[in-house]
Amino acid sequence: MNGTAHAVIGSATGFIVANAFQTTPAETLLFVGLGGISGLMPDLDIDGKLRGKITLPHKMIQLSAMVIGIMMLVYSFLEKTAEDRWLGAGIGLLILVIASFIKQKHMLTITGAAVLLGGISISELWIILLGIYIGIASFSSHRSYTHSILGIVFFGIIAANLEASLEIQGTYFTCLTGYISHLIADLKILPFNKRGVKLFLPLSSIEL
Ligand SMILES: [Zn+2]
Repeated sequence: MNGTAHAVIGSATGFIVANAFQTTPAETLLFVGLGGISGLMPDLDIDGKLRGKITLPHKMIQLSAMVIGIMMLVYSFLEKTAEDRWLGAGIGLLILVIASFIKQKHMLTITGAAVLLGGISISELWIILLGIYIGIASFSSHRSYTHSILGIVFFGIIAANLEASLEIQGTYFTCLTGYISHLIADLKILPFNKRGVKLFLPLSSIEL
């Protein structure tokens, strides 16, 4: 099933959840959007359209990583005590070196790392977890871990933390059902799917 179809189904589940929670019009719009995005998430494990969309342009990532590295170096020498100074400078240098090696194929992994760092810098647990999710998805083969019960649980934890941050009831259900709708739409019992999903990874690789 293609991305557009997944997004439409996810948005529809968001709309249903919004009605169940009797949300305001603004919240309904938010849930439709969140449902659509959640419905696309499992396919971050493919080289598809979505991967191209969320991944920042190569040069921009490389440049911002280098700027972060240089800032880290300068900051360490100005603000830190002797021990922390060398640690900070070391991390700064490491970021600089890694940034110069960035290649197109690592873009999604780097995006995940950037989201992770962003989450740490503003202390938002759901953003930190989302960064980890994107990082893991970038290493997973298609229709494996992001399309499993383990993936649902991980995404559910992200969603629960997002709801805690937004303080809007129904956020968790919207994200979770949007995500699950993707896996259902990918099931092998549906006539348009040649491949199914390995729901029970890593315990069993049986395809449903
Ligand atoms: Zn899929």
